This record gives sequence, structure tokens and C-alpha cells, in this order.
Amino acid sequence: MSTGDSKLLIVVPCYNEQEVLPECVKQLTEVLVTLERTGRISSGRVLLVDDGSKDKTWSMIREYGNSMPQRVCGLKLAHNVGHQNALWAGMEWAATRCDMIISIDADLQDDVNAMIEMVDKYNNGADIVYGVRRERETDTFFKRFTAQSFYKFIKIMGADIVYNHADFRLVSSRALQSFILMPERNLFLRGMVRTLGYNEDSVYYDRKERFAGESKYPLKKMLRFAWDGITSFSNGPLHMIVVGGALFVLVAIAVVIYCIYLWIIGHTVPGWTSLIISIWFVGGVILLAVGVIGEYIGKIYKEVKRRPRYLIQDEIS
Ligand code: UDP
Ligand code: MG
Repeated sequence: MSTGDSKLLIVVPCYNEQEVLPECVKQLTEVLVTLERTGRISSGRVLLVDDGSKDKTWSMIREYGNSMPQRVCGLKLAHNVGHQNALWAGMEWAATRCDMIISIDADLQDDVNAMIEMVDKYNNGADIVYGVRRERETDTFFKRFTAQSFYKFIKIMGADIVYNHADFRLVSSRALQSFILMPERNLFLRGMVRTLGYNEDSVYYDRKERFAGESKYPLKKMLRFAWDGITSFSNGPLHMIVVGGALFVLVAIAVVIYCIYLWIIGHTVPGWTSLIISIWFVGGVILLAVGVIGEYIGKIYKEVKRRPRYLIQDEIS
């Protein structure tokens, strides 16, 4: 696999990106030319996925497709389905049409030159290469703290993601074909890709400001995405209810013993003991019961995802 005779498709989801598209296509084509000229790949194209944009994005993509068909191809989604779904559409389209894909955002925040190192790692046998953003010195303490807490929290909740990696990554076609076997509808690609296995590697780069236009991910959408990441990826929150319920019941038992003790030494008003015991005990039992139901829902949740049970990486026969 160390020869460079493979085809690359760069998948770019675009939502109202008319301001950045010309520069995006220009920079990506330059990288493709470099990759071809240095013999790292045999040929490469850019796949622009228009995620139901309302501006001129699609007509621009069509023009690029007409004027340089050897460089640009496009997909237009009928409706805005969000970054993750748009990327998925591009990946499904690409799975049978190339040997590897690299996914990148249209806004050029990720360093396009990191792709060269990614392809080198692919040629050295990696199936998945994560683009990992270097920690920025200029980041405020708050920004770093919230990001780190997010990654730690999501890990505790049971979803394994690569720290500081978003959706800038190379995926070989065999990993991609396994990837698109996952039939779930709630996508959290950076978590899902980690469950594949295969040979993984990383490259590091500095993340820049958006080239032009404004973020399509306001804070509200970002928090929603983080929450989606946790809930569509792990049963952690459900499991926490069981643990909470069990703790509650333990506390209830302690309270019961204490109340009975107070009742024996006569330090209570009539009716108090039975009331307090009922509140604690019933509360604990209810929470535990909800948790148990939750565990079953978690199982159902896993079942309906119908993920493949395993993927074979190598075989000797
Ligand atoms: N995007 C998309 N559909 C959406 C929102 C965003 O395809 O509904 C694309 C967008 O065009 C860009 C990428 O997803 O290529 C990342 O979006 P953005 O740069 O606005 O997010 P941020 O970097 O601010 O988190
Ligand atoms: Mg961006």
C-alpha cells in the first residue's frame, strides 16, 4: 500500500458557503495538484455536498463541475439536514468511487496542508487518520477549560472520542465501507469512527479562524450537538439513574435506622417517623425502578441501532 496509485475524494459539506467556496476550491485543488505531482496519489477530486443552501452555493458548485469536471463533483441535498448528515451523504456516495476520502469543512479553518501528511500515513498503512487540532496558546482559559471538560465528561459517559479532533479526517475505502454499515439515524461521526478499529493514526495542525462568512454553528446548536453526542452514543445518563437510585435507597435505610432510634428515645412528634421513612424509602425505590426501566430502554436503544457485531481487519487462511 506504500505506492501512491490511489484515488482520493475530498468531501466538503457546504451550507450557505458562497463567500468561502471560491477560496475553498482553489486551496483544495492546489493540494490535490501537489499530492498528484509528488506521486502520493494517482488522482484526486473534491466532492462538494450542498446541504440545502439558500444562497448561490449550488449554482456555484454546478459551474465548478462544468468548468473543471476532473477536479470537482457535487451533490445537492433536497433539504438542510445538518453537517453530520451532509457528510454522511458524501461518504456514502464516495464509498465505492475512491480509495480514500478526507472530510473537511468548507470554511478552511482546518489546515489543508495537513492532508499531505494524512495521505503519507495512509500510504504507510493507516486506515483512519485523525486531524487533531493543536492546543492554541491564544485560547482563553475559559475556552480551554470548557473544551477539556467536554471531552472528559463525554469519556466518563462512555463515548470514546479523540481529544481535539473534529471532523477533519482521512478514511480508507475499506474503513468507509464498514462505517456506512452503521444504520443508525442519530449521527455523531467522531464517536462512531472510533468504534471501527483498524489502523489509526493522527496528524497535528493549527486551527485558524473562519476564512469568510459566519459560523453555521451558533452556541445553541453547539450545545445541542454536544448533548446529542452523549445521548446518541452512550447509555451513561440512564445508568446514572440506577446508581442514583441505589444510593438513595442506601441513604433511606440509614434514615430509617436513625428515625427508629429517635422514636425509641422519644424525641419525635407523633406521625413524623412514619412520614419521613415513607418519603425516603418510596423516593429511593421509585428512582431505582425508573433506573431499571432505563437499563432496558438502553438495551432496546442498542438493538435498534443494528450496528455490525464485528469487522474483520485481516485474515490468514
Ligand atoms: N454545515 C452544513 N450544514 C449545516 C451547518 C453547517 O453542511 O446545517 C457545514 C458548513 O458549511 C461547514 C461545516 O458544516 O462546512 C462546519 O460548519 P461551521 O464552520 O459553520 O461550524 P463551526 O466551525 O463554526 O463549528
Ligand atoms: Mg467552521
